[in-house]
Parts: sequence; C-alpha cells; structure tokens
Amino acid sequence: MLFDNHGRSISYLRLAVTDRCNLRCFYCMPEEGIDYLPRRQLLTYEEMERVVRLMVKLGIDKVRITGGEPFVRKDMMEFLERLAAIDGLKKLNITTNGTVTAPLVPRLKNIINSVNLSLDSLDEKRFFNITRREYFKDVMRTFEQLLHFEIPTKINAVVMNGRNIEDIIPLVELARNNAVDVRFIEEMPFNGSGSNAETLAWDYPKILEYIRSHYPDIEKIPDPKNSTSFNYHIPGFRGNIGIIAAYSRLFCGSCNRIRLTPQGMLKTCLYDDGVFNLKNLIREGGTDEHLTAALLDALGNRAKDGFEAEKRRNFGLPVSESMATIGG
Ligand code: SAM
Ligand code: SF4
Repeated sequence: MLFDNHGRSISYLRLAVTDRCNLRCFYCMPEEGIDYLPRRQLLTYEEMERVVRLMVKLGIDKVRITGGEPFVRKDMMEFLERLAAIDGLKKLNITTNGTVTAPLVPRLKNIINSVNLSLDSLDEKRFFNITRREYFKDVMRTFEQLLHFEIPTKINAVVMNGRNIEDIIPLVELARNNAVDVRFIEEMPFNGSGSNAETLAWDYPKILEYIRSHYPDIEKIPDPKNSTSFNYHIPGFRGNIGIIAAYSRLFCGSCNRIRLTPQGMLKTCLYDDGVFNLKNLIREGGTDEHLTAALLDALGNRAKDGFEAEKRRNFGLPVSESMATIGG
C-alpha cells in the first residue's frame, strides 16, 4: 500500500495519455488551441505501461485514462488492452469527450470497467458554443452505444455561468430512465488562457439549490469512499446525481489519487504544477528502484490540500494551464 505524509492511502492513478484534442471546450482551451507538446516529449506507450506496472506493484489498483482526448492518440485500443491485462489492476476506466468513441464501444466493453462521458449540453447549438466544434451528434451516438452495451457510464458536465444553466435540468433528466449517474462539476480556472475568475458564480451549494428547486424530494445518499462528488438521489430515478466541488476543493481530505501528465510529470495534486518528471528519469536510464524512490519521495512531501499545492507552485503563479495537459 502507498501512503502520503498525511496518512492518506494512494490507490488511484489518472494517466493523461495525450494533450491533443479535437474539441476546444472554452473552459479548457483557448479558441486557437494550445501549443501541443512535440511528440518525442510525450511518454511512449511502453514508458506508460512500465510506470503503470510498477505503480500497480506498489499499491495502485485503479487507473483512469484521460487526456486531451485519449482516442485521438493512435493505437489507443491496443494500449488499453495491454493495460487491462496487468495483474493486480482492478479497475481501468476512461474519460472521453465521445466524439470518435461510438464505433469503439463494442470493443471497449471487454476492456474497460466504466466510462465518464463529458457532455455539457443537450442542445446542439449550445454544445457548439461551448466546444467550438460540430460533434454533438457523434457524442450522442456514443452515449447511446454506451447504454446499449451496458457499460457503466457517468455523464460529466461542467457548470458554466451564462453558458449551460438551462441544460442542468435536462441533464438531470438523463438519470430518470437511464442507468447513468450525472455529475455536475464546478468550473476551475484550468482554461489555458490565464484568465482567472476571482469568484465562482455556480458553486456546489448554488448548483444543489437550483436542482432542489426543481426536485424538492432530492435526498443526500452516502458518498462512496474517496468520492470526489457529493451524491444525491431523486426518488424514482434510475441513476444518481453528483456534484463535484472541484473549485472549492472540498474533497482533499480523502484524496487517494495521483496524476501523470502526457509529458511524464508526476502530480500529487490537481493544483500543483508537477512535482517530478518521471519521463526524464526513465530516459536517463532510471531503474524501477529509482522510479520507486522518486514516487515515495513525492508522496512523502504531498501538500495537504489543493490550496497548499497551489501556493507551492513555482513562482507562486496561479493555475492557468489547459486541463488538456493534466487530464482533469
Ligand atoms: N477530453 C476528455 C474529456 O473531455 O472528457 C478527457 C480530458 S478532460 C481534460 C477531463 C475532464 O476535465 C472533462 O470532464 C472536462 O469537462 C473536465 N474539465 C476540463 N477543463 C475543466 C475546467 N476548467 N473546470 C472543470 N472541469 C474541467
Ligand atoms: Fe478536449 Fe476534454 Fe479539454 Fe474539451 S475538456 S477541450 S474535450 S480535453
């Protein structure tokens, strides 16, 4: 088992396999996109597999593949199949924007434990205004396929003042007759453009109050261990509703996750700016013992929460990088 210096057990790795994406969600990337990493700076599949195998030996039992958009990286399915075969890895999950995922769903069924599908609007025009790309129908097709193949699915929607408030209730309604959980995420300042709102218009209490005003019977249900969402049930609904207080950082006390960025940076908190570059160590010929020592060292010096992690950033600069370089 892995533990950090605050006694939290660490069992979950979020692996961002690329920084490239075919959408331009305005909360994640500026319209012109971001400067993608040169290919040689991305971890190779072999390097990622080596790190995952090592981390699983050390106590990680859940891996989420994210990005950028994972499925824009060539040969992703073969990589997933290799990861799924790792002994001791109990859960392999993926977060996708669903744009090119629909045809892959039958094959995913045998590899993946669950899918988080990002979908911020059920209105084609608003979807375009948010993502700046015309992929709405493809994403909806992915959603249908996930339901059809009965892959456990969660919908993730970022709540954006003035952009998709009218989508909150239609998105909640997806959980009425479908076996999907719908989770609303506070918008964070990881937009790649450096603009940084001082306050958040739609935070957890406000999102909850808004949903409750339409569903007065909504009730709190217990949150699974290490859950980042506060979870609710509406009587008669098949799926549950979650709210992720990612801006307010209300989940740090039980955080069991670490992150690996596409360029091999180890992050022990979403809000840090990378605590160690594992790729450099690998390419300098680092052994598994070296990699283990670096990981343990990073965990032994982990910030207690996202506020401390943000303060510790180099030069004290606030977060502004694109979420596509982190993975969410
Ligand atoms: N491209 C994939 C997707 O969109 O599902 C995976 C990567 S994306 C960075 C992972 C998650 O981060 C998505 O659910 C996305 O909505 C969320 N995200 C991105 N930028 C965010 C922000 N500024 N605030 C809150 N969530 C954000
Ligand atoms: Fe791409 Fe996901 Fe970022 Fe949207 S949130 S731009 S889909 S990486």
